[in-house]
Amino acid sequence: MNVQKIREEIKQLERKIEVLQVRINEIQQACDHHFIGDAYYETCSKCNKVNVLYYYWFTTKSPRKETDMLP
Ligand SMILES: [Zn+2]
Repeated sequence: MNVQKIREEIKQLERKIEVLQVRINEIQQACDHHFIGDAYYETCSKCNKVNVLYYYWFTTKSPRKETDMLP
């Protein structure tokens, strides 16, 4: 498999990820959420949408993993 073919496959996968992300957004927008969580973040038990509640995480610039948000 040469570089050209690998790059083409990467592009196809990126397009697929976009389609899947749109589908997730559609599901989460249609969901009547049932959030479970604590003071830091809450997760919908139906669609897995995450709301970050602790203000500090909105102000930080570097993206963090979900595990970093645990107290
Ligand atoms: Zn939901």
